[in-house]
This record gives sequence, structure tokens and C-alpha cells, in this order.
Amino acid sequence: MSSTTNTADTGSAQNRGLVLINTGAGKGKTTAALGTAMRAAGNGMRVLVLQFLKGSWDYGELHAAELFGGDLRIRQMGRGFVKVGGAETDPEDQRLVDEAWAEAVRAMQSGEWDMLVLDEINYTVGYGMLDPAAVADALRSRPPLLHVILTGRNAHPLLVELADTVTEMREVKHAYTRGILAQRGIEF
Ligand code: ATP
Ligand code: MG
Repeated sequence: MSSTTNTADTGSAQNRGLVLINTGAGKGKTTAALGTAMRAAGNGMRVLVLQFLKGSWDYGELHAAELFGGDLRIRQMGRGFVKVGGAETDPEDQRLVDEAWAEAVRAMQSGEWDMLVLDEINYTVGYGMLDPAAVADALRSRPPLLHVILTGRNAHPLLVELADTVTEMREVKHAYTRGILAQRGIEF
């Protein structure tokens, strides 16, 4: 076996599917995942992005993905906001999370995709809407070449342990704290 190099590995011997987590309180978790998705799609890989909780907002990435044709597909599985905590989770949000998770499992097992991005899934686990052990089991039994990226703050320790690459975005400053609201092209 030769030693590793910095050149891109196009051989098959070392190819393997990875689990990545983008977490932390700083901005960039979803956008980094989308950047990786674009990188993969540019390599001819088929990428599915399932957005938990998100819906109804007109995100620029939805239109950008259309430019890639069917190889980069983004599906919003939520309704854009979520009522949780104190007065209990809204059953409709729970239903949407269950549906998104069922779709994620189907996508993982289908063999149709080379990369799966489960955007904001960490929040659903954190809110108690999705069982981390079920997520861990599904990740362990996925096809060996499938890459999976999980995003959202407060990634569950069980999933952090299982993941190959975990990045924590740290906030240095954010425009929002100066009262600057979400900007097109930056936040959506
Ligand atoms: P992005 O989608 O921009 O990569 P993200 O995925 O890291 O952000 P989320 O927790 O999913 O962050 O929240 C998404 C929205 O919240 C974005 O509009 C983002 O700008 C905003 N946001 C992220 N981090 C912060 C922060 N530290 N303070 C205020 N707003 C934030
Ligand atoms: Mg996000």
C-alpha cells in the first residue's frame, strides 16, 4: 500500500461513505452542507437534501438545485416553523418529522443516492421529536458508500460519536445581534 497523498483519490479501494455533522451556534451549518452537496453533484454524484422542519420559505438553494437537474434534489419536509416545548409539540409538526424520517430511511436504503443531507435533523432530535438511537441504527445499516450529512445545533452525543467528521460552527459575531434582519442570498 502506498502512503496517502494530497491528490484526489479516484480509485475505488479507499472509497467509503462518511457521516458528517455540522453543528454549533454559529452560522454556516446548512450552507456548508449545501456546499458539500454541490461539490458532490459536480463530481457526478446523486445528492438528496431532505430539510426537516423547513418549508414554505422560498430559499435560493431550491432554485440553484434545479440548475443541476435531478442529481441535486432538495425537498422541504416541514412547514417552516415548529411549535415545541412548554405546551408540547404540535402533533402536525410531529407527523411531518415522522414523515421526513421515513423518507430519509427510504432514501438511505434505496441505493438511488450517493449523498444524503438531513438538514436541521439535529433540532428534531434535540426537541425530542426523533429518537437518536433510531437515527444511529439507520446510519450504521446504510449502504457502505453512502455519505450522510446531519446539520443543526446541539448534535446528540450518540450521533457525534458515530460520525466520522464533526464540525462545530462558533459564532464570532452575527449581523442579527445588531438588528440586521435576514438578507436574500445570505440567509435565504
Ligand atoms: P445557514 O443556513 O446560514 O448556514 P445555519 O444552518 O448555521 O445557517 P440554523 O440554526 O439552521 O443556522 O439557522 C438558520 C438561520 O438562523 C439563518 O438565517 C442564520 O443566518 C441564522 N443564524 C444562524 N446562526 C445565528 C446566530 N448565531 N445568531 C443569529 N442568527 C443566526
Ligand atoms: Mg441550518
